[in-house]
Amino acid sequence: MKYDYLVVGAGLYGAVFAHEAKQKGKRVLVIDKRPHIAGNVYSQKVEGIHVHQYGAHIFHTNNRKVWQYITKFAEFNRFTNSPVANYKGELYSLPFNMYTFNKMWGVTTPEEAAQKIEEQRREVVGEPKNLEEQAISLVGRDIYEKLIKGYTEKQWGRDCKELPAFIIKRLPVRLTFDNNYFNALYQGIPIGGYTKMVEHMLDGIEVRLNEDYLDKKDEYDTIAEKIVYTGAIDAYFDYRLGNLEYRSVRFENEILDIPNYQGNAAVNYTDRETPWTRIIEHKWFEFGKDDNGNDLPKTVISREYSSEWKPGDEPYYPVNDEKNGALYKAYKELANRESNVIFGGRLGEYKYYDMDAVIAAALDMCEKELS
Ligand code: UDP
Repeated sequence: MKYDYLVVGAGLYGAVFAHEAKQKGKRVLVIDKRPHIAGNVYSQKVEGIHVHQYGAHIFHTNNRKVWQYITKFAEFNRFTNSPVANYKGELYSLPFNMYTFNKMWGVTTPEEAAQKIEEQRREVVGEPKNLEEQAISLVGRDIYEKLIKGYTEKQWGRDCKELPAFIIKRLPVRLTFDNNYFNALYQGIPIGGYTKMVEHMLDGIEVRLNEDYLDKKDEYDTIAEKIVYTGAIDAYFDYRLGNLEYRSVRFENEILDIPNYQGNAAVNYTDRETPWTRIIEHKWFEFGKDDNGNDLPKTVISREYSSEWKPGDEPYYPVNDEKNGALYKAYKELANRESNVIFGGRLGEYKYYDMDAVIAAALDMCEKELS
């Protein structure tokens, strides 16, 4: 066979694997059905601004090994994510911290804030059973109603009582004046853009774009000893057990002839009525400067609309509730029987992975597979 590995999908998982396999002297081919590499971290330059075409990607990790790994391919800037929530024109700091509590309740000390939360969380007795109970038990009903409920129901298209608690555990709660969204030791945006970073990862590796593996599976299966498949696991099996649910996102991009639209990279619209979930103003990921450090006269914004995935849409977020969890398990059993195929990444493993976790998972797999 011509190749040792065929990597299906040129996103982060595929790029890490391809890079490592090449280092080990393997013959690798990477294909992707899209016309570009980098999967959903793909960025494109518009008006001098690196626009995150598939939604905001802010790299953050506590994993030193992952940080050392990824910084081989790009230098990172010092961007720190501090989103603002807009609830019917009231602005609140995210994640939930002393600025948020002060605005919400007028409290000025951590003790007062803790007391407010304590009073409000009492309505939840026992272990939180769903996202609503988890949110109230973390920050109380007021914050739940204004900053979580509407946003979450738009984002997931489901009632907060029907969603798993873990989704909201992603968000930190702090009794300090710290607006850093992530509890991460390392954070930033690759200077020069994500696409360039992935280009470096794929340096010297054969890549074919606009190639749909599932369309030509029989042909592709004859050219490589093994396949690393990073597409959707249910699609691989032609949805034979039914389809897993995903959330998709639609982006409405606009170039505005003004230098500053919202003064921040991310503003979340946390009410139920505003149809979009958030607006990203991409230039603020790079402090309003172009690659040469010059101020940019224009700005590019993206409104994000969340929707239920249907065939033909891009899948973004797996819906990790019980029903889908059980279906995934059934697909996973089928996958285990495909001895020449490794399933990986957010879609291949149907898992709400952050970028760093994808890289860590890919590196773990490389250790097993390539040693
Ligand atoms: N969330 C919320 N209000 C916000 C931001 C997030 O209620 O203003 C909830 C929502 O349920 C979301 C989850 O927290 O799905 C995780 O948010 P995160 O920003 O981590 O999601 P991502 O950036 O991956 O879309």
